Amino acid sequence: MCGIVAYVGPKEAYPILVKGLKRLEYRGYDSAGIALYNEGINIYKKKGKVANLEEFIGDQSVVGQIGIGHTRWATHGKPDDTNAHPHYSGNGDLAIIHNGIIENYAPLKEALINEGHTFHTETDTEVLIHLIEELQKRDNLSIEEATRIALTKVIGAFAIVVMDKKDPGKLVAARKASPLVIGIGDNEFYIASDATPIVEHTNQVVYLKNEEIAVLTDKGEFSLKTIANIDQTPFVQELDLKIEELEKGGYDYFMLKEIHEQPKTIADGMRGRLSAEEGWIRLGGIHEYENKIINANRLIFVACGTSWHSGMIAEYLIEELARINVEVEYASEFRYRNPILSENDVVIAISQSGETADTLAALEMAKEKGALTYGVVNVVGSSIARITDAGSYIHAGPEIGVASTKAFTGQVTLLTMMALSLAHKKGMIPKSEFSRILAEFENIPAKIEQLLQSCDSQCQKIAEQIADANNALYLGRGINFPVALEGALKLKEISYIHAEGYPAAEMKHGPIALIDENMPVIVTATNMGSYEKIVSNVQEVKARKGKVIAIVFEGEQEIKKMADYTIEIPKTEDMFTPLLTVIPLQLLSYYIALIRGCNVDQPRNLAKSVTVE
Ligand code: GLU
Repeated sequence: MCGIVAYVGPKEAYPILVKGLKRLEYRGYDSAGIALYNEGINIYKKKGKVANLEEFIGDQSVVGQIGIGHTRWATHGKPDDTNAHPHYSGNGDLAIIHNGIIENYAPLKEALINEGHTFHTETDTEVLIHLIEELQKRDNLSIEEATRIALTKVIGAFAIVVMDKKDPGKLVAARKASPLVIGIGDNEFYIASDATPIVEHTNQVVYLKNEEIAVLTDKGEFSLKTIANIDQTPFVQELDLKIEELEKGGYDYFMLKEIHEQPKTIADGMRGRLSAEEGWIRLGGIHEYENKIINANRLIFVACGTSWHSGMIAEYLIEELARINVEVEYASEFRYRNPILSENDVVIAISQSGETADTLAALEMAKEKGALTYGVVNVVGSSIARITDAGSYIHAGPEIGVASTKAFTGQVTLLTMMALSLAHKKGMIPKSEFSRILAEFENIPAKIEQLLQSCDSQCQKIAEQIADANNALYLGRGINFPVALEGALKLKEISYIHAEGYPAAEMKHGPIALIDENMPVIVTATNMGSYEKIVSNVQEVKARKGKVIAIVFEGEQEIKKMADYTIEIPKTEDMFTPLLTVIPLQLLSYYIALIRGCNVDQPRNLAKSVTVE
């Protein structure tokens, strides 16, 4: 949440910052703002998207070779022009951009007010820049030293960049919990929340570690230390990211592009990790700890949102195939409820961005209690990837649409591989059977490709019929129950229709009361083990005049006779069905949101990469 971008070097900063902010807009779009140094610090900021900021700037002069920019996802103070970042210090000498939350802003603010400071915004961020100013003035400190000391006094999460009119060739950047990357060019530096604004300028980057503070100058100097004042050596890495991955490539929305990328991203996630022919699955990250995982007391998946749904699918798969105890927890609950954890537990975090604040905190707690930690993330080099003992990337490429699609199927693919590899290692699947299953797994990308072709226009038509609904119910059984939750979440996120996911049989215990002729009920009916039961559930819905949209295996007749609409998916093993059944649910949400005139990629109030609690 919140995008940070900054530049210092010989070029004009404004075009770099604006382009960078557009790349980061998926992280927040409550407001956008820029500060440029040109004989003083000039701030331009506006409520809304980056386009509003550009319109506001119009033909005002935007000269300056050093500058900072921000897209906001408001936590403290409403989203308006005043609360937009950057923020000035009281004397106007300093400017700051900030991602995160300063939790102890209230007592700090009170103390600063007693020192004579006046505040103009409702943000926690403005308190931090006043604190830096106060320390700088009181002890006659350099901007980097004042910033460092101020950061020792704040509680919370931050990624910040600060500039000082008295020391104009310099940017000070620091982080704790929220991410920050520094790109190194020719006597120039780029700073950003992730690498997407940097990749077109340089592929040499340094990921700031937790509680590090960097000073970057227009002379090409880069110094690094911890906030506790211990010198560090920057570790320069090469970026592996292509600009095409960050563009829409002819699609109207990133979400649609990402839905259509899934055959490729799933194949990428499998590449080099399994061979049906030779009968093996190998997840590099697991290898070293396989025995520990197999003998673990419990595997505890911690995650939020869509990733939590992937974790639930992992629970069904790992318990069924490998007979290892699994629990799935919301990271935000887990971290605060004093769970019983021991060295015999393995805590597995799932997060697209690898920066999810609650998931990170849950991992830290698990580490303290001695559990082995494992990360399943998409963004290479992210915080979760770095702090876990081991882990696997899903290799889905950058996901920019705020509603997750390809990251979900990437996670499910990886967790399915994990379940199969643990089951294989435990000798739970006979060799010939294992090769047959893997061969079917390898077919999944092609089956998704086929499904995308066959169900797209059908999903559009169904969307037209149900786009006016106020509520929707998603039902599924077994491994497709989490898919029902995911389908409901997609609809809520991007079309603002209230939707709930339920285990099909559980419907009788409450939600059935909601069903009438206006209620679309989307049923995933591919579990062959409980097919007859789902048929009965569909009948129960029809008896109450609900509108049934059923997702069935191709050629399936029974439900087709009762449902208002059926979407057929290619036949496969039960364990792989989530990778297929979720596709029409993604497309339905997409088309319904379009019909309702919603911004599919940037739904209201949401942002990607939830770096605040
Ligand atoms: N807490 C700050 C604010 O509300 C920063 C939020 C963000 O990360 O965008 O302005």
